[in-house]
Amino acid sequence: MKFQLEEYHRGVTDEELVADLKQVALNLGKNSVTRDEQDEKGKFHSTTFIRRFGNWFSALEKAGLEKTRTPMNLPEEDLFENLDEIWVKLGRQPRYAEIQKPFSKYSVGTYEHRFGTWRKTLEAFVAFVNNEERSSSEEAIKNVEIELITRHKTKRGINWRLRFIVMRRDSFKCKNCGRSPATDPSIILHVDHIKAWANGGETVLENLQTLCSKCNIGKSDLE
Ligand SMILES: [Zn+2]
Repeated sequence: MKFQLEEYHRGVTDEELVADLKQVALNLGKNSVTRDEQDEKGKFHSTTFIRRFGNWFSALEKAGLEKTRTPMNLPEEDLFENLDEIWVKLGRQPRYAEIQKPFSKYSVGTYEHRFGTWRKTLEAFVAFVNNEERSSSEEAIKNVEIELITRHKTKRGINWRLRFIVMRRDSFKCKNCGRSPATDPSIILHVDHIKAWANGGETVLENLQTLCSKCNIGKSDLE
């Protein structure tokens, strides 16, 4: 991580940063620079610019460059789903510096551009996930009018938001052996039906639990 360089770069003037950014654009022969390009070709890391100017787009503005085209039409759900994958892989809340390609499908700049700051991104993510929570409990399902007698009120598949809610409730730890990717990166967590769906178990918070892949395979009900 280039964060260690913070002290060293504190003496750099805005003009020096802007000149570096302009030089990168010139070398690329383009009128805009992405954060990846800056990190690869620039003297200063893109995080230094962000710390100084607030975000990458302000830095581009200061340098008189065009704002990088980020896919603004990217569905919010895709951005959140990627965040979910990272969170689940880490077994804890991801940190700013960890949102990097290829670990993350989208750069942290994409999130900042969409939501303003990293903090606001996390808040929007949690709000989005919580919206699912309200509609995925036994209580909520009881309130749903069932017109036809069906064996199941819910689908077998667990959507990623519900999966995330279950893992968060279980603190990203296997309910059986207690292991977590947060302390052992080889651990892969799954969400499992406590009462098997095949036996009438529903896909609701109360009937779901977090298991590691080893414990999940050990279960005999062929979930
Ligand atoms: Zn386990």
